[in-house]
Formats: sequence, C-alpha cells, structure tokens
Amino acid sequence: MKIIEPEIWIEPYDGTKIMKNIERACRTCYRSEDHITEDSYKKLLKNCINRGHESVLEHEKITIRFLCSINSYKDLTRHRAGASFSIESTRYCNYSKDKFDNNIKFMDPVYIQNPDDYQCWKDCMAAIEKYYMQMSNNGAIPDHCRTMLPHSTVAEVVMTCNIREWKHVLSLRCNNRVHPEIRQILIPVLLEFKKTMPEIFESVEYDEAFPKDWYAKLHIGYKEN
Ligand SMILES: Cc1cc2nc3c(=O)[nH]c(=O)nc-3n(C[C@H](O)[C@H](O)[C@H](O)COP(=O)(O)OP(=O)(O)OC[C@H]3O[C@@H](n4cnc5c(N)ncnc54)[C@H](O)[C@@H]3O)c2cc1C
Repeated sequence: MKIIEPEIWIEPYDGTKIMKNIERACRTCYRSEDHITEDSYKKLLKNCINRGHESVLEHEKITIRFLCSINSYKDLTRHRAGASFSIESTRYCNYSKDKFDNNIKFMDPVYIQNPDDYQCWKDCMAAIEKYYMQMSNNGAIPDHCRTMLPHSTVAEVVMTCNIREWKHVLSLRCNNRVHPEIRQILIPVLLEFKKTMPEIFESVEYDEAFPKDWYAKLHIGYKEN
C-alpha cells in the first residue's frame, strides 16, 4: 500500500483573457461594447457581482484535475449545475495490476493527529489492501473487489466548471465546516483564482487558520502519466 498526499493540476488558463471575454459577452446586454478599454473589465465585473448579475460568468470555464480521495469526490460531485466530471472508476481499475504498481493508494489523513487513531487507520488500510489483493489473485473482477474500498482510496477526478460555478463551489467549500480533505484541495485553487482573477474571487472567504503545510501541491498544466 502507498500513502500519498493530494495534488492539483489546473489546465493552462489566462485569468485576464477569461475576464475580458466575460466582459465582451456582458456588454451585449447594454450594447456598450464601445466602452471596452484595456482594463474596463475590472469595474464591469465588480458591478455585475455586486448586483448578482452572475450569469455572465457562465461564458467561461476552467478544468482541474485532482488527485484526491473518494472522501473528496463524494463532496465535489454533489455540485450539479455548471459542473462536469470524469472520475477514475474502481469498477474497471484493478489495483493488483502492474499498471497500478500492484498496490492500493490511500490519501494520508493528516488531520488525524492522535497517533493511536492514525495507527488504527493505517492497520485498517493494510488489511483492506491484503484482502483486495487476495480476492483479485483468486480471480475476482475489480467490480467485486471494490466493495471493500474505503473513503481514503485515492482517485483522480477531472472537474470542469464554468466560472460562476467555481465561485459557488469555492464559496461553499473552503470554510471550517467543510471536510479537511476538501479544504486541502480547494483552498489552494481559491488562492490561485484570487491572484489571477481578483475582480471575481476576491470576496470569497476561506478558512485562513487551515494549516498551510496541509495544502495540496498545485500545478498549472497537464499531469504527466
Ligand atoms: C458544509 C457542508 C455540509 C453538507 N452536508 C451535507 C449532508 O450532510 N448531506 C447531504 O446530502 N448534503 C450535504 N451537503 C451538500 C449540499 O447540500 C449540496 O448538495 C452541495 O453543496 C451542492 O451545492 P448546490 O446545491 O448549491 O449545488 P450546485 O450544483 O453547485 O448548484 C449551484 C446552484 O444552482 C441552483 N440549483 C442547482 N440545482 C438545482 C435544482 N435542482 N433546483 C433549483 N436550483 C438548483 C442552486 O441555486 C444551487 O446553489 C453539504 C454541503 C456543505 C458545503
């Protein structure tokens, strides 16, 4: 078994271009395209967001790949409007094969701080892997073996949302009421978007007390296989 940390790959995007494209679409409402200047999008977007005129944010989308756990994707996939998903299927992926290094990967529950509890978790994962491999070696198909897999099982998720939905998801899921594994993967995304698209994301709040060394590593680009 392998215990790993979460990671994030945001497909290459240009925040300023996204905001300018949204401005161009939005100005159709007022036929004020002639008011477009180098930075006119800044005021326009702030006004739209303050007035709740947020449908204009739906014109652009961003795709993110998460290396996360079943724990996390159960929460992510609750978002239906303006969100699309492709998720590694435990029905088809056989973790006893070489392609998966003949092991099951589990997400490190860094937030389980009590050493005795952490050991309980680790022993449980080791037992699950042992019986998964045993069933698989007996000839059971992944569809049957997967019934033993726990929330900690690692899975890759590709999530595409329009900008309005990213704003909504990040507004709901970066505070201290949200599961720590979700905060690990979504706070870094929010901080990135605050940097590149402040006019849209600056008002979104997050759990500033969440330990920074628990943040998932964030990449801009495509994951290498
Ligand atoms: C802290 C926290 C705890 C939670 N706990 C639980 C729990 O215990 N059990 C549980 O089942 N869920 C739980 N959830 C999930 C939550 O109820 C939502 O299902 C989830 O956050 C998706 O958000 P959303 O409904 O805004 O959907 P999205 O798909 O993100 O939709 C965006 C917006 O579109 C509109 N919309 C989408 N679909 C419809 C529709 N069918 N009709 C009308 N308007 C629509 C709504 O305005 C919605 O806010 C929890 C969420 C959080 C953040």
